[in-house]
Amino acid sequence: MNRFQRFMYGRYGMDHLSRFLIGITLLLSIIGSLSKKSIIIYISYLFLFFVLFRMFSKNIQQRAKENRIFVQLFQRIINSFQKLKRTFFGTKTHKYYRCPGCRQTIRVPKGKGKICITCPKCRAEFIRRT
Ligand SMILES: [Zn+2]
Repeated sequence: MNRFQRFMYGRYGMDHLSRFLIGITLLLSIIGSLSKKSIIIYISYLFLFFVLFRMFSKNIQQRAKENRIFVQLFQRIINSFQKLKRTFFGTKTHKYYRCPGCRQTIRVPKGKGKICITCPKCRAEFIRRT
């Protein structure tokens, strides 16, 4: 093992959360130097410090737990964005409408022209172009 490998042995190393934090660090340091606001640069140092602390940490379980929470949260944010996008634009094959009666989201196939949609939940009928 070389010196770096020996140093990193038993330490946590890199994960998704750290990569994300490095991204924020870079973004903040760019914004900080462009806007010439040193406070933003100091905040980016804080993020960098946190990344280094996590990388060299020997409390692997705790760091893995943090990463797991981050990944779950990140996935949830991505999912809600996808859901939002789907609601507004639909997918390749389907469009999404909200029932005017009970606000239930209803999926209908695209390209069927004007159709009468019956809500599966409250049986309300409404006409939409698909
Ligand atoms: Zn309904």
